[in-house]
Amino acid sequence: MVESMAHLQEEKLRMQQELLALQEKLSAREKEDIDVSVQLQGQVRCGLGKDGAEWRVENRGTVRGGTDLEKHRDLLAAENERLRQEMKAREGELRALRQQQQQPAPCLPCEHVQENGRLQERLAQLQREVEEARAKLGELDLEVQQKTNRLAEVELRLKDSLAEKAQEEERLSRRLRDSQETIASLKAQPPQVKYIIKTVEVESSKAKQALCESQSRNQYLQEQVGMQRQVLKEMEQQLQSSQKTAAQLRAQIMLYEAELERAHGQMLEEMQAMEDEKNRAIEEAFSRAQVEMKAVHENLAGVRTNLLTLQPALRTLTNDYNSLKRQVRDFPLLLQETLRSARSEIGQAIEEVNSANRELLRKYRRELQLRKKCHNELVRLKGNIRVFGRVRPITKEDGLGAEAASAVTFDPDDDAVLHLSHKGKQVSFELDKVFPPKATQEDVFREVQALVTSCIDGYNVCIFAYGQTGAGKTYTMEGTAANPGINQRALQLLFAEVRSKAADWDYAITVSVAEIYNEALRDLLGKEPQEKLEIKLCPDGSGQLYVPGLTEFRVQSVEDINKVFELGHVNRATECTNLNEHSSRSHALLIITVRGLDRSTGLRTAGKLNLVDLAGSERVGRSGAEGSRLREAQYINKSLSALGDVIYALRSRQGHVPFRNSKLTYLLQDSLSGDSKTLMMVQVSPAEKNSSETLCSLKFAERVRSVELGPVSRRAELGSWPSQEQLEWGPGPSLSAQGDSPGPTRGHAAPGPGPPAARAASIRRKLQSSG
Ligand code: ADP
Ligand code: MG
Repeated sequence: MVESMAHLQEEKLRMQQELLALQEKLSAREKEDIDVSVQLQGQVRCGLGKDGAEWRVENRGTVRGGTDLEKHRDLLAAENERLRQEMKAREGELRALRQQQQQPAPCLPCEHVQENGRLQERLAQLQREVEEARAKLGELDLEVQQKTNRLAEVELRLKDSLAEKAQEEERLSRRLRDSQETIASLKAQPPQVKYIIKTVEVESSKAKQALCESQSRNQYLQEQVGMQRQVLKEMEQQLQSSQKTAAQLRAQIMLYEAELERAHGQMLEEMQAMEDEKNRAIEEAFSRAQVEMKAVHENLAGVRTNLLTLQPALRTLTNDYNSLKRQVRDFPLLLQETLRSARSEIGQAIEEVNSANRELLRKYRRELQLRKKCHNELVRLKGNIRVFGRVRPITKEDGLGAEAASAVTFDPDDDAVLHLSHKGKQVSFELDKVFPPKATQEDVFREVQALVTSCIDGYNVCIFAYGQTGAGKTYTMEGTAANPGINQRALQLLFAEVRSKAADWDYAITVSVAEIYNEALRDLLGKEPQEKLEIKLCPDGSGQLYVPGLTEFRVQSVEDINKVFELGHVNRATECTNLNEHSSRSHALLIITVRGLDRSTGLRTAGKLNLVDLAGSERVGRSGAEGSRLREAQYINKSLSALGDVIYALRSRQGHVPFRNSKLTYLLQDSLSGDSKTLMMVQVSPAEKNSSETLCSLKFAERVRSVELGPVSRRAELGSWPSQEQLEWGPGPSLSAQGDSPGPTRGHAAPGPGPPAARAASIRRKLQSSG
C-alpha cells in the first residue's frame, strides 16, 4: 500500500511539473502576443502626429509589417491552441491519478487521512479556480483577436484614403507645375501679356479653385484620420485594461499555484508523518505481539504440564463418569422401587398417625371429661356457692356527722372478715371475700373472672347482687360509663377468650335482658317489653326450660353491648314513672349464652352466665306500706326467700328443690342446679343509719355460705330458710323497717332523646342489623 502511495505521489509530482511547464509555455506565448500587440501599436503610433511627407514612408512599412505580424500571430494562436489541448489532456491524466489516489487501499482512519482529504479538496478547488482563470484568459484572448481584426480593417481603410489623397495631391501639383510653366512662358511674350495674363489668371483661378477643393477634401480626410485615431486610442485603452486583467489573473494563478504547492507540501508532510506513525505502530504491535507470544508460549508450557498432571485425574473422572452413567441407567428402576417402598411406608405412617390421632382424640375427650370432673370436684370442694361482701363508700346521700359515720370495720389480717357495730354491739361475719369501700371495679372483677370464663367451658354461672336499695348493687353489676361493672367487663373478657381460641373453636355469644317485677317476666329487648313471658319446659323431653319469645341478640363488640344495655334501659323506663324506684323493686337479669363448637372434635358446649341485679332487700312490708307498695314488697320478699330456699335445698342435697316458688328461681333453675356455680355479691352500706339492713344482708350472706360449707348434720339445725323478716337480728322486737325510700338517685337510668318506645325501636333496628 505504501509503495502504491509513493508511486502515486511520484506520478502526481511528475504531472505537476508538466503542468508547470505548460503554464510557462502559455505565459511565454502570451508574452509574445503582448509584444505583437505592442509592436502593432508602435506602428500605428509612428503614423500618428507626423506631417504628410513622413506619412507615406510609415504607411508602406505599416502595410508590410502588419502582414508579417498577422502571420506570426496566427501561428502563435495555433500553437497556443495546441498547448491548451495538451494541457487539458495532462490535467485529465492528473485527475485520473488523483482519483486513484483518493481510492487507495483501505487505510486506518486517522487525522492525517482527514487532513489529506482536506488538502485534496483544496487542491481540487484551486485547480477549478485555475481552470476558471484560464477560461477568462481565453475570453480575453478572443476579445484581443477581434480588436486586432477591427484595427486591421481600420488600417486598411486609412491606407486606401491615404493613397487616394496622394494621387489627388500628385495630380494637383502636376497641374500647378504646368500652370506655373504656362505663366512663365506667357510672361516671356509681352504683347499678349495682358491676354495671357488674363487667361493665366483665368486659368490660375480655376487652378486655385481646384486647389481649394483639394484642400477642403484634404481637410475632410484629415478629420477622418483624426476620428480613426480616436477609435484606435480607445481600442488601445481597452487592450491595456484587458492586459491588466490578464496580468491580474496570471498573478492569481500564481497565487493558487503557490497555495497548491504549499498544500501539496503539507500533504506530503502529513503522509510522511502518517507513514512514520504507522511504522511506529507496527513496531509497537510487533513488540507487543512478541511479548504476548512469549506469554502464550509460557502458558502453553504450563498447560502442557497441567495436561500431564490432569491425565490421571481425567482417567479417574472417566471411571466416575462411567459408574455414574451406570447409576443413571439404573436410576429409574431404583426410583420406582424406592417410590413403591416409600409409598407403602407413607401409607403405613399415615395409618399409624391416623390411629395415633384417633387414640389422641379419644384421650383428649377423656381428658376433657376428666378435667370437667376435676373442675366439678374442685368447685364442690371450694363450694358451688361463694359469697362475697362489698361495702360501698360513704356518699353525700348518707348525710353528715354521726349519721354518716361508718358502722363497718375490717380485719387488716383477714380479707374475708368484717365487723358491724349495731346497737352498741360488734358482730363479726366471715364470708369468702370482703371488698372494702376502696376496692375498685377491677378488684372486684378480678375475683369473679374465673367464674365468667368457666361458662366458655360450658358451665352455667349465676352472679347475684344482693342488698338493700342504695347499697351499690347496680354500681357493682352495671357500673358507670367511665367505670363499667361486672356486666360489661364479663362480656369483654368473653370476647377476648373467644378470640384467643378462634383457631380451634367457633363461638357465638348471645345476650338477653329481662326483668322480673311483681313475679312477671318481661323481655327488655323485645318489641313488646310490657308483655309478660312464660317459662316453659322444652318439648324435646330434655327437662330443659326455655322462655318462648325471649329476645336474644348476638354480640361481637363493645359497641353491640352498649346498644343492648341502652335498649334494656330504654325499655325498662317505658312502663314506669320513676325508673330508680322501679328498678329497686324489680330483678334485672342479663343472660349471656356462650355456644361453642370445637372444629377438630365436633364437640359442642353451651354455657350460660346469669348476671342478676336483685331488687332491694329492705323490709318494706314492715314499714306499714299499703297498696301497690305493699304488693311489690310482698313479691320481693317472696322471691328473695324463694332464692334462699332453693340454695338451701341444693346445698343440703334435698330431693326436692323448690325452684317453682318464684319466677326468678324457676327461670334460673338450669343455672343453679347440677355443676353450676353461684356467686352471691352481698352489697352493704357502711352508714350507721343503715346498720339494721346491713345486719340483715350479712346474715343472709352468712347463712348462704354456711349452708354450702356446713355438714349435713347442721341442716336439721337450720330447719327451713328464714324469710326476709326472720333475718333480723336477735329474738327481741323487730327493728323498725328502714330504707323505704327508693334510695339515692342513680346515674345509670339514662333516658335518651325522644319517646322511649321510639328510641327502643331504633336501637333494636341497629342491633339486628349488627348481628
Ligand atoms: P343499689 O343499686 O343497690 O340501689 P346503687 O348501685 O344505685 O345502689 O348505688 C347507690 C349510690 O352509691 C350510687 O350513687 C352509686 O354510684 C354509689 N356507689 C355504690 N357503690 C359504690 C362504690 N363501690 N364506689 C363508689 N360509689 C358507689
Ligand atoms: Mg339498683
